[in-house]
Amino acid sequence: MKVGVMEHVDSMHLLPGHRKCGVPHGHTYRVEVAVEGPVNDGMVIDFDVLKSQLREVLKEFDHVDLNRIIAYPSCENIAMEILRRLKARIPDLKMEVRIWEGEGKWAQCEG
Ligand SMILES: [Zn+2]
Repeated sequence: MKVGVMEHVDSMHLLPGHRKCGVPHGHTYRVEVAVEGPVNDGMVIDFDVLKSQLREVLKEFDHVDLNRIIAYPSCENIAMEILRRLKARIPDLKMEVRIWEGEGKWAQCEG
């Protein structure tokens, strides 16, 4: 079974040479995380645990310059970095991370 949570961060980035994202600017990123695993004692994972772990990871992504964390902070690379950090905290469950860059654009990865 899958369960998921959603959070937001507001961050700045710059993609060198990109037609629209080539100057410093901000986005509101919606961060959706789903984890998959067996239901034990009625839960795949306690929402409170998943939310608090995700919030800890996102502290370093909120109201910051993402270029300081990720060399080329595209939506795809942000998703992979958040997946990597969250997976280190919750290694036992299969996980999907979807990052929305504003409205109507997203990237998703799994691990
Ligand atoms: Zn941008």
